[in-house]
Amino acid sequence: MEILGTYNMQGPIVIVGSGISAISLATEIRANNSAVEIVIISDDREAPYDRPQLSKEYLRDGENSSFRLNLERAPDVEWLRGQRAESLNTDAKRITLSNGRSVAYGALVLATGAEAKRLPNLVGSGVPITTLRTLEDASFIREHLRPGKKLVIVGGGVIGLEVAATARAVGADVTLVEALPRVLNRCAPFKLASFIADYHANRGVAFHFDRLSKNAAASSLLLDNGRQLHADLIVVGIGVVANDALAKNAGIACDDGIFVDRYGRTTCPDVYAVGDVTRQLNPVSDRFERIETWSNAQNQALTLGRALAGGPVLPYSDIPWYWSDQYDLQIQVAGIPAGDEEVFRGRFADAQFSIIQLRKGKIVGVASVNRSREFNIFKRLIASDRLLDASILSDESINIREYVKWI
Ligand code: FAD
Ligand code: NDP
Repeated sequence: MEILGTYNMQGPIVIVGSGISAISLATEIRANNSAVEIVIISDDREAPYDRPQLSKEYLRDGENSSFRLNLERAPDVEWLRGQRAESLNTDAKRITLSNGRSVAYGALVLATGAEAKRLPNLVGSGVPITTLRTLEDASFIREHLRPGKKLVIVGGGVIGLEVAATARAVGADVTLVEALPRVLNRCAPFKLASFIADYHANRGVAFHFDRLSKNAAASSLLLDNGRQLHADLIVVGIGVVANDALAKNAGIACDDGIFVDRYGRTTCPDVYAVGDVTRQLNPVSDRFERIETWSNAQNQALTLGRALAGGPVLPYSDIPWYWSDQYDLQIQVAGIPAGDEEVFRGRFADAQFSIIQLRKGKIVGVASVNRSREFNIFKRLIASDRLLDASILSDESINIREYVKWI
């Protein structure tokens, strides 16, 4: 493994953002260095929280769920909360906040995440409408989710499907509109997507595929085929855009995401970036992509944190993966969703299976439902050089753990 040496900076480490990447970074720096000055700037007035619960436990159980991030392991941090970082002067190494204050940095880490895309033509009709990215959004949805209320969701990605599952659990009527003929187009193999759509349909979710929303009236959403869907609440989950304006305006290379190398470095010295806001080399697809997952935000930050604290500067190249909980399904997906050969293990009828993607005999992706032990074995094999036999992988009578030990 290549090691780049150690960073030796002057002045405080300033972090912009207070999501999982920012808090993981601060925690890791503190764990390895008790002396370095850390400043966190966040435009959120809320105490830091974790987003995955917002579409799941928090939406169902509210304040009873444990959605706050733990700050105890990141002590002695100067917090500038409720302040937006407005502009960045990389020559002077200063950042200016919305209240006019200017903050000097030795190293700056942009952990500004992403924000939900909106549909402006639906706003102002009188139907309550929201995206889901923040605690405020989740509280708004929670207020309107009641048994028998009609929820219309636009977008069949992870947000739309998780909200649909939670809303059905609280007894709301759910209709989901998706622009494509399938759900989870961006991030799951077709067979998994079909299984999940059927699972939702069997639990009462009505789908409108290949449809776009046109506009909203007082209590309905109008589709491009003229169909009118009654709605007490509309939730829009149609993807995100990176919060990269600070970097872009400072001349740092961006393209809906800040370009970083495997050391978290941007194109400007002493400016780093981590989490959803970054565009990085995906080690499986071999393309520069935004990897919008919790594990990436955490682990990219931990790797950079160790380096900034004075530890070894190691490359980050984790295999991308995410989980999603819908009803009683624990869904886990790693790598890329398509190869040149696909192996199926398990049974749809039992809601327990794995779909493995191979490319030239090597695993490039795995998607599992309620099979996390097996998922972890296959995830570890992704991007390894091991050549696997598809007929053995699909044979459930063979102990997969033993098989991979022997190849
Ligand atoms: P963010 O969490 O977006 O945090 C960025 C922070 O920066 C925000 O607090 C923002 O207010 C602040 N900020 C931005 N610009 C500025 C500025 N100029 N000045 C000051 N502050 C600024 N992933 C999974 O793998 N599994 C899941 O089950 C899962 N569930 C999810 C459910 C929901 C509802 C959502 C929204 C996401 C989910 N994700 C999940 C994705 C995961 O939460 C994200 O990948 C992760 O939150 C990214 O963390 P981040 O710290 O990079 O960015
Ligand atoms: P996604 O990009 O995953 O999905 C959005 C879906 O909406 C796509 O299928 C998209 O189709 C479709 N779409 C786009 N425009 C329209 C439109 N006008 N009408 C109808 N459908 C449309 O984004 P999400 O909003 O679901 O998720 C947002 C973020 O939250 C992501 O970063 C995601 O990773 C994260 N997240 C992760 C979770 C997890 O990992 N478990 C859970 C929840 C959120 P097309 O592909 O054609 O654009």
